[in-house]
Amino acid sequence: MKTQANDRTVAVNGRRYAWPQAPVVVVCIDGSEPAYMDEAIAAGAMPWLSQALPRGTRRLADCVVPSFTNPNNLSIVTGVPPSVHGICGNYFYDRQAGVEIMMNDPRYLRAGTILAAFADAGASVAVVTAKDKLRRLLGHGMTGVCFSVEKADATTKAEHGIDDALGFVGQALPSVYSAELSAFVFAAGVKLMERFRPDVMYLSTTDYIQHKHAPGTATANAFYRMMDGYWAALDAAGATIVLTADHGMNAKHGADGKPQILFLQTLLDDWLGAGEARVILPITDPYVAHHGALGSFATAYLPDADAMAIAGRIAALPEIELALERRAAAERFELPADRIGDVVVVSRKPFAIGTSADRHDLSGLDAPLRSHGGLSEQRVPLYCNRPAPALPAEARLRNFSAFDLALNYAEPAAAPATRRRAV
Ligand SMILES: [Zn+2]
Repeated sequence: MKTQANDRTVAVNGRRYAWPQAPVVVVCIDGSEPAYMDEAIAAGAMPWLSQALPRGTRRLADCVVPSFTNPNNLSIVTGVPPSVHGICGNYFYDRQAGVEIMMNDPRYLRAGTILAAFADAGASVAVVTAKDKLRRLLGHGMTGVCFSVEKADATTKAEHGIDDALGFVGQALPSVYSAELSAFVFAAGVKLMERFRPDVMYLSTTDYIQHKHAPGTATANAFYRMMDGYWAALDAAGATIVLTADHGMNAKHGADGKPQILFLQTLLDDWLGAGEARVILPITDPYVAHHGALGSFATAYLPDADAMAIAGRIAALPEIELALERRAAAERFELPADRIGDVVVVSRKPFAIGTSADRHDLSGLDAPLRSHGGLSEQRVPLYCNRPAPALPAEARLRNFSAFDLALNYAEPAAAPATRRRAV
């Protein structure tokens, strides 16, 4: 069902989105520090993007802090910060129950998604995500195609909107730790565009490459060249494409290649007594091999202690960018106050925060530590293959304005793509 009416809008979480004039594809490139595309373009590895950007929109935006995957993917698909949608990390601590709770279940989501709202309004919607940890959150309440590459060998029409996604894409199932996992996301996106021409598509990759390879390296450039080829195909199909990232990525090691880690649990044990405080690293998830659960953001639940004073003491450490007590952190970073600890701690760019040395398995780290989570990974690209002249030049943009840019600001393509849409 397609409606031609240009004045039709869909309201979600306090914002109105115009009905797409052409298929809209929002891409979340996991861990895409702006330098990755700058370097790849400079190296000639992104011929499509090099041509598309001068005609389109090239801006930078701020992601949500903690600069982690799930809070930002959910912000992008809801158009609002975690204070509204509720997902502020992979884990939070239930103080009453004394257990750490994984937040990858839709019951922790407090807002509907733009994807579900468009599907409800009659749009055809498709979502492909690399890892399965995001699938149920992204697809919550949504009718349409929604599957993860990780589980592409087990999709059903009833649950994922498509039978046998593996056969549909026609590629072998990639390893969860591989560049191919992300390549499959785009191969699927192009196939879906050819076959179903969805009105709205959301494609989300994994940062496996970015965790191991710095911008401008041969492996990183090859990865961006791969994506550029798929984007060219989506562009040729007439899609309005917005490219953004969930967060950036920086080296968290010294000149010797060793990780630079502040062990916060050890420190608080020392200050307050063993086990009195509980440090939560919300980057922790079932796939920690490439970062050892080390990022630049932590939150700590304190015993009956003066959070303001502890935050002040932590903030004075050379590794630390800032430490805020709960209320100040919730306000500054737009976080749900009931899902963060008494103190929020962000480390400086070259440092990561751990709990204690014995609780991090670094054996899977086969390259010097690169990670994210802090303010130093907040800047991300917000690119579009269409011009958006009405977008205020001086405004602070957010990555969760990606759908706003695509649907409300991007100017439609010239005649050929519009004609194709009528087919
Ligand atoms: Zn990520």
